[in-house]
Amino acid sequence: MFCVTIEKVIDMYTVSVLIEHPVQSLDTNFDYLSNNKVIEGVRVIIPFHKQKIIGYVEHVKETSLSKEKLEADAGFKYQYISEVIDKEPLLNEELIELAHTMSKLTMSPRISCYQAMLPSSLKPATNQAVGIKKQLVVHALKEGKPKTKKQQECLLYIKEHTDILLKDIPYSRSLLDNLVNQGLIEIVEKEIYRKPKFMEHVPKKIDLTDDQKHVIHGIFASHNQTSLIHGVTGSGKTEVYLALAAHYLLKGQSVIVLVPEIALTPMMVEVFKQRFGDQVAVLHSRLSQGEKYDEYRRIKRGEVHIVVGARSAVFAPLEHIGLIILDEEHDASYKQESKPLYLTSQIARIRAKTHKANVVLGSATPSLETYSRTQIGAYQLFELPHRINQKPLPKVEIVDMIEETRKRNFSIFSLSLQKQLQQTLEEGNQAILLLNKRGYASFLQCRSCGDVIKCPHCDVTLTYHRDENKLKCHYCEYSILPPHSCPKCGESKMKMIGYGTQKIEEEISHTFNHARVIRYDVDTTRQKNSHLKLLEKFRNHEANILLGTQMIAKGLDFEDVTFVGVLNADLSLNIPDFRASERTFQLLSQVAGRSGRGAKEGTVVIQTYNPDHYAITCAASHDYQKFYQLEMNYRQLAMYPPFCHMVSILVQSKKEQATYNEAKHIKNYLDSHLNNVVILGPAQSMIYKMSDLYRLRILLKFKQDKEVYIALNALNDYYNKKQKGKVTVICDFNPYSQI
Ligand code: ADP
Ligand code: ZN
Repeated sequence: MFCVTIEKVIDMYTVSVLIEHPVQSLDTNFDYLSNNKVIEGVRVIIPFHKQKIIGYVEHVKETSLSKEKLEADAGFKYQYISEVIDKEPLLNEELIELAHTMSKLTMSPRISCYQAMLPSSLKPATNQAVGIKKQLVVHALKEGKPKTKKQQECLLYIKEHTDILLKDIPYSRSLLDNLVNQGLIEIVEKEIYRKPKFMEHVPKKIDLTDDQKHVIHGIFASHNQTSLIHGVTGSGKTEVYLALAAHYLLKGQSVIVLVPEIALTPMMVEVFKQRFGDQVAVLHSRLSQGEKYDEYRRIKRGEVHIVVGARSAVFAPLEHIGLIILDEEHDASYKQESKPLYLTSQIARIRAKTHKANVVLGSATPSLETYSRTQIGAYQLFELPHRINQKPLPKVEIVDMIEETRKRNFSIFSLSLQKQLQQTLEEGNQAILLLNKRGYASFLQCRSCGDVIKCPHCDVTLTYHRDENKLKCHYCEYSILPPHSCPKCGESKMKMIGYGTQKIEEEISHTFNHARVIRYDVDTTRQKNSHLKLLEKFRNHEANILLGTQMIAKGLDFEDVTFVGVLNADLSLNIPDFRASERTFQLLSQVAGRSGRGAKEGTVVIQTYNPDHYAITCAASHDYQKFYQLEMNYRQLAMYPPFCHMVSILVQSKKEQATYNEAKHIKNYLDSHLNNVVILGPAQSMIYKMSDLYRLRILLKFKQDKEVYIALNALNDYYNKKQKGKVTVICDFNPYSQI
């Protein structure tokens, strides 16, 4: 007999973990040990500086070395992983790779990229207990005859309704328990998904037009390409998206459909749900944690093949993507304004490249960047120049508000708007009114000394909200009761200046007969599903005027809306941003496009103090080409995108002098390290102080980004690793907001 002693080899794994930490220097991996194999892509709990924190497993390596040997090699003491949180990896290989790319492109910590990709309950840094929802279902078991007649009826009912939920069975619990005891049925727990609510919709029978078919065939025929569908409002872009999605689905591929902020475009969800039912998952910020978690799992498990959602749905963990659609591609919400500051179209193109998929951008008012790319052949261009059934675009009248005061009309409503709106209401039609300012009054001013009440933390005036009787800051959480007398001079009278949607809501009921208003803005749509309820009410004619901020400009398709009024077109024009004209043109074109979409013709009135501005006149004449040419001329002269790239560097801290010093420092550094770059600033941001931080901006304009990346990476490392005097520096590639 041989005696074999088998030496038991203890498995040991080194696990490389990424942790969440506000300091960027910690965006490196920390190594831990585990006696069990850990899967890459799961979250773990680890000891870190005497705390237990959550980290994200990036790499796992098996090793045959002992702990002592490993420590001798590494030069530090290893600790063990305390606990593994997830059973399955949260992200697949493609998305992990994407996080790395995104981190480099946006110069943001990798962990922040993972955070952006995952629903909040699954974020690496959180361990919120969003559970899997379970409910009791009832199954019939073997053949057999129950004792009573009632029990027989009940059993039959259960047999007829497979997988029925316990709570839906119209028989008593004791009767059911009786059947369980006889071994005829069982009551078991089953995992169920929480289903997001969406608007019900009666589908129309539709034959695609030749224009629509042309676009669809063109996109079918292209591979690995980006295409722009430039279609006027009401040209039937949504039907094109639906047909494209159906095609890719048939080929066994999946589709991502992105829309701006979902609350603004609930109709896209509704039509996709209608057409594709349970094949569709929805991802957006208005879902509850549980709904998001369930939708995410349905996608990850391959149970759905279409995802409709806002910006972050571009990261949906679908396999075999054939098509990514960005509807209203020009919309500013496609830019994420917190770290990582990514541009959705850029991420979409990276994913499309990996999947060899097509990207489709759709808009009635494409961004200049996108349209210019079609002109140089980088993107394909498809046009839908007409509304469905050759319906005309609405007639637009521009009203000069200076003329109105000359006519001694001091109302916020011009005479023309009054006449047309009143007529619309009398004819039983509906109207949409746009005022891009929420709240009641813009600010409170002392009648005696002229002092205006401002936020103590931000460089802005406080807006009066009548419903809560509060003065509120729209940039931080600050709010106060309106003072009875001027805090500065003690004079008793304070005057409300300017107006917001709340005040207009009041004025409408004084001015117009038969007016029933729904106000639609951030304040009335804050509650879950409230936006759906308001729109449903409007669709059911429970109101005849929909009054709102820019939230009402997009994607709404109500066939009885025959009048659109823009109360003050200058609000967006007067913002000091190189895109102000473009934004105004887009906003006016979009909101005008809500009028006359049904059988009846529509009209629009735009009130403005700049009646000759090309952004306004081009929107009124529905002339995208003319606007594009004029705006491109301006961009070229002033050297703005798409004629150059831009980076905005925001330098901020609580100490004013320190902010200045560091900003100058940075400027000097960049001056000496960059050759072919225009460096502007530092200058005060549009809102110089926000949430107690002083904010200075340096703008870079350049054609080649290589040297810029090198210099900014060095800068980023320097400031964010060492936390220089609490000054933070944020580099924004493709800045969309210069607030
Ligand atoms: P867009 O998104 O381009 O503004 P929509 O896709 O909302 O336009 O279409 C406008 C309206 O035309 C919708 O009510 C839609 O149902 C209808 N529609 C679209 N395509 C067709 C078609 N081929 N035949 C009839 N109606 C259509
Ligand atoms: Zn504030």
